Amino acid sequence: MEDCIFCKIVSRDIDTPLIYEDDKVVAFNDVNPQAPVHILIIPKIHIASVKETEDKNLLGHMLSAGNQIAEKNGMEDFRYIINTGEKAGQTVFHLHLHLLGGRKMNWPPG
Ligand code: 5GP
Ligand code: ZN
Repeated sequence: MEDCIFCKIVSRDIDTPLIYEDDKVVAFNDVNPQAPVHILIIPKIHIASVKETEDKNLLGHMLSAGNQIAEKNGMEDFRYIINTGEKAGQTVFHLHLHLLGGRKMNWPPG
């Protein structure tokens, strides 16, 4: 999708180093990390938010890719986040799964 920063990362118009890539998703470091490890896992196709899809295969695939990335990074404990909608903190409207780790996580989140 035009004017979507994450689509531009997928298309390589923006040259962000990829941590992981397969036929459905890519993963890369968050530009503004909130933890020692902060990786974003995104579908290659443009989907504005998690509530815009019923694709269980893709959603499961994103988590499965996240698990593999976490294991590769030696992360035993970690947190997944999917902010959905502006009031929930979503700022980029291309579905993304945050993978955070490398420090103690607090609960409840802000
Ligand atoms: P959200 O707030 O929508 O859940 O998360 C969007 C995330 O994308 C933020 O953590 C932000 O730091 C990250 N981000 C925004 N633009 C870019 C970018 O151009 N490159 C990378 N690597 N991360 C980005
Ligand atoms: Zn997009």
